[in-house]
Amino acid sequence: MARIQAVRGMNDILPADTPAWRYLEDTSKQLFAQYGLEEIRTPIVESTDLFKRSIGEVTDIVEKEMYTFEDRNGDSLTLRPEGTASVVRACEEHGLLYNQTQRLFYTGPMFRHERPQKGRYRQFHQIGVECFGFNGPDVDAELIVMTYRLWQRLGLADQVRLQINSLGTAACRDTFRSALLEFLRPLKDQLDEDSQRRLDTNPLRILDSKNPHTQSLLADAPRFEDFLSEESKAHFDSLCRTLDAQAVPYEINPRLVRGLDYYCLTVFEWVTDALGAQGTVCAGGRYDGLVEQLGGKACPAVGFAMGIERLILLLQSLNLLPETVGNNVDIYIVAAGAGTEGYALEVAEALRAASPSIRVRLHHGGGSFKSQLKKADKSGAVHALIIGEGELADRRVTLKSLRSDAAQETLAFEALPGKLNGLI
Ligand code: ATP
Ligand code: MG
Repeated sequence: MARIQAVRGMNDILPADTPAWRYLEDTSKQLFAQYGLEEIRTPIVESTDLFKRSIGEVTDIVEKEMYTFEDRNGDSLTLRPEGTASVVRACEEHGLLYNQTQRLFYTGPMFRHERPQKGRYRQFHQIGVECFGFNGPDVDAELIVMTYRLWQRLGLADQVRLQINSLGTAACRDTFRSALLEFLRPLKDQLDEDSQRRLDTNPLRILDSKNPHTQSLLADAPRFEDFLSEESKAHFDSLCRTLDAQAVPYEINPRLVRGLDYYCLTVFEWVTDALGAQGTVCAGGRYDGLVEQLGGKACPAVGFAMGIERLILLLQSLNLLPETVGNNVDIYIVAAGAGTEGYALEVAEALRAASPSIRVRLHHGGGSFKSQLKKADKSGAVHALIIGEGELADRRVTLKSLRSDAAQETLAFEALPGKLNGLI
């Protein structure tokens, strides 16, 4: 029978790669805790309307990328293409925005029906942060500083560049939109197909077009900065000053609009040149209108999401994973000879009880000492514990270093937990 394969664009993450994933996730979570963030987990499936209403009907995601289906009740459901809408829904539903502020993070799979290629998949994973109830720009700045600290901890700081822009408030966007329309209307015939359609529905998105000819037409288009109110300008200036003070390098990119409808004021992206076309590893901004748009009481908000796959690709291709990442075993126990199996398990359990962080792999399936020691070596373990009939007879174990020439040593069973400190 033909073998069934994974769905195109949806990847297995195999044991060889999960340590890198955990390293990235753990490093992020440890950092987020330092900034006082709490975790939220929401379902992977939501009502289709949630994404239509939040992301915007005239966006790539809603127009062409969503995994939407009817469930057995005939309800239209969608696999989440991003995390923000779900977090807003959950916060509203549980009253988390009522007279309080929130600083939250989430992590998990997202689904978009895009053309799979390096750094672009149909199931991909994000780590995201959302803060509610703060007008900024102090919180905008702190979040960006936090992302910079993450790159520093991962050794990526000189591989990624920060681009920022301000979209202004809703009022600034309206005047800008009119000016942009006036500029683009005469050029309509020269625009790419998507952009022509968006002229009437969502002209700001044209700035985000990936079509090179459309981009070249935009060279003389009006710029956001000329339409910012004093208040919007002050917000942006303050953000820039804080980034300067924290020595976070940035570029102002007047073309940066972000793909989703709900952004205002601060928008930012961290991009790399090391991944080809899929260069954005982290993106976010302020979305003060979204909570109200989804039926809640107006509440300012700011957040970002980073793409785990792209960051892992970056860490792997630049060899930035610490050596310890990927090593899953500290001690490998080999046992051969009549009656030694039970004693080997007893030794393994004693070690595990003595230290919750120790990783002990117990050999299963028998075989000679020689073949077992080969497996021990392959496992990456630093030490092997050898148990033969002699060790069983007087309740001892033989400790052998697999990574140095140190002489073998035979110890009493009782002495083993005490020996651990020096071992791992
Ligand atoms: P792009 O311009 O690359 O399509 P986007 O603007 O659609 O990105 P966001 O919706 O802002 O992306 O998502 C935040 C991050 O999630 C991106 O910067 C990227 O790192 C990651 N990401 C988005 N879509 C995918 C995908 N299909 N596969 C892998 N990672 C993705
Ligand atoms: Mg996209």
